[in-house]
Amino acid sequence: MDCIFCKIARHEAQAQLLFENERIIAFRDIFAQAPTHFLVIPKTHHASLDAVGDEHDALLGELLGTARRLARELGVAASGYRTVINCHQDGGQSVDHLHLHVLAGRRLSWPPG
Ligand code: 5GP
Ligand code: ZN
Repeated sequence: MDCIFCKIARHEAQAQLLFENERIIAFRDIFAQAPTHFLVIPKTHHASLDAVGDEHDALLGELLGTARRLARELGVAASGYRTVINCHQDGGQSVDHLHLHVLAGRRLSWPPG
């Protein structure tokens, strides 16, 4: 699959990896929007959150659980963090491979722009 996140998942493209198991890989965002900014993705290609079905609920839970564990490991859990999944055009999705953002290390504003 000619997809940058699939290539990272297959170790064909470089990334600063934070975690990996058979189903999931987490790595730092190349264009960080906060002092800590990483992405948690399934290794299998799903174009967006809208592209997965109910049978993927466990996988979605594992994305969130991985985010929670990594936030603790990286020492940002107490100060706080934000998890985001952008979906399709209005959601601001730019890479068409499902990914969960974790942003931390500065006070994030709300509502988002
Ligand atoms: P989206 O806008 O789709 O929600 O988020 C895509 C994210 O992927 C962006 O924050 C962008 O900086 C990041 N990104 C795009 N290409 C690469 C890449 O090749 N490597 C890494 N580590 N991050 C990437
Ligand atoms: Zn992909």
